[in-house]
Amino acid sequence: MEDPARTAPARREAVLQAVEGYASAMAKSLSDAIRIPSVNPKYPGQNYSNIVGAEEDMSSLMADLYRSAGAAVEMVAVEKGRANACARITGTGEGQSLALNGHVDVVPAEAWARWERGPFDGQITDEAVIGRGATDMKSGLIAHAYAAKALRDAGIRLRGDLVMHAVVGEEVGDHLAGTSAVLEAGYGADAAIVCEPTNVYDGPPVVSPTAPGLLWFSVTLVGKTAHAGFRGHALHSTLDGHRLGVNAVDKMWIVYHALRQLEDEWAHRDRHPLFVPGHFSILPGVVRANPEGIEVPFFLSDTATIEYCALHHPDRSNDEVVDEIRRAVERSCASDPWLRDHQPTIDWKLVWPPYVTSPGHRIVETVINAHQEVLGGHDANAIQGGFFGVCDITWLERGGVPGIIYGPGVAKTAHAENEYVPIHQMITAAKTYALAAMDYCGVAEEE
Ligand SMILES: [Zn+2]
Repeated sequence: MEDPARTAPARREAVLQAVEGYASAMAKSLSDAIRIPSVNPKYPGQNYSNIVGAEEDMSSLMADLYRSAGAAVEMVAVEKGRANACARITGTGEGQSLALNGHVDVVPAEAWARWERGPFDGQITDEAVIGRGATDMKSGLIAHAYAAKALRDAGIRLRGDLVMHAVVGEEVGDHLAGTSAVLEAGYGADAAIVCEPTNVYDGPPVVSPTAPGLLWFSVTLVGKTAHAGFRGHALHSTLDGHRLGVNAVDKMWIVYHALRQLEDEWAHRDRHPLFVPGHFSILPGVVRANPEGIEVPFFLSDTATIEYCALHHPDRSNDEVVDEIRRAVERSCASDPWLRDHQPTIDWKLVWPPYVTSPGHRIVETVINAHQEVLGGHDANAIQGGFFGVCDITWLERGGVPGIIYGPGVAKTAHAENEYVPIHQMITAAKTYALAAMDYCGVAEEE
């Protein structure tokens, strides 16, 4: 049996050259993509009917690129105005198939004043492309489409199918409209590369075989309102205490401190070789507390809510962590006379399972080798790292497609102002995708 892993050096070089030649075209396509404000219409705070459809415009841009790479393209929609672009370059039939996956939706770009340029301007500089989605993750989509174009230009015919997905919905975990829907429509593969940004900084992409689990939840507790003039009476049990009133804002900090302490416990206990110590965390991202229906501090607040995003160790199940958080909240309430009798309610809003690539899966080695070949040889350990958040890799695996995460982008600018991607990262990623496709799918003999 022939070794499918290495094709003639001249053919590999031709592919890399073809990607090089696309450097400015990639920047231009990314700029075009950024100018489509494909904000997820289900993102909290968005007006669905006002913005639905932009995701599909972005999918159409990807469909055109896929077609220009010689792919057969199908638009697959679960919801009107939210089509996914699915592409297939059919191989000669004897190889394994590979899927390249990315999401077309982006998060909102509020706080425009803090952007140096408009978030949807798509500015191109000598080194970078700037705008919402540059990192998360339109650069990954553009890079994988151009990898396919480079394979075509170099006359490479793969043995296995190369499948590409540009999907909606990822930013709110709406995989039933996005990634799970395209798998359902027949666009699965033997393995996948999710092209999300894997370097925190400006360096080359890292290979991420694992991602944390995510829990979005809210803790709501009630107080008992009274006139601000009786704050002191309510506060001191030597006066009227809880019989008169309870300020929910004060009680909220009891829960806050308990989960903050649990977060520190995680930093010490939940270590992982591919994540920096302390990566796993419990973010109190939204706090709401006020006298019901009124937003002035002349009443004791009778309701308080904190919304959290917990990102936990990939070897722990969501259920196990749900239990641990619930117990930490219960323990904190046991120490307070009011909360003991008025337990907070916890609402689990989004549960996203962690991801771990099955050990020894061929896709990991394939991408590491391709990346090293592109960059001219680095230590394999130096280029692996855990993914910072969650992504569609979880739903791909649930749909029977294991894989890894690898893509361009400066992850620290994802969901942040002045999001950008260095052009060199896109080139490296596109080259790596192209070589990985050749090695994973195999290359047919030249005719
Ligand atoms: Zn993303």
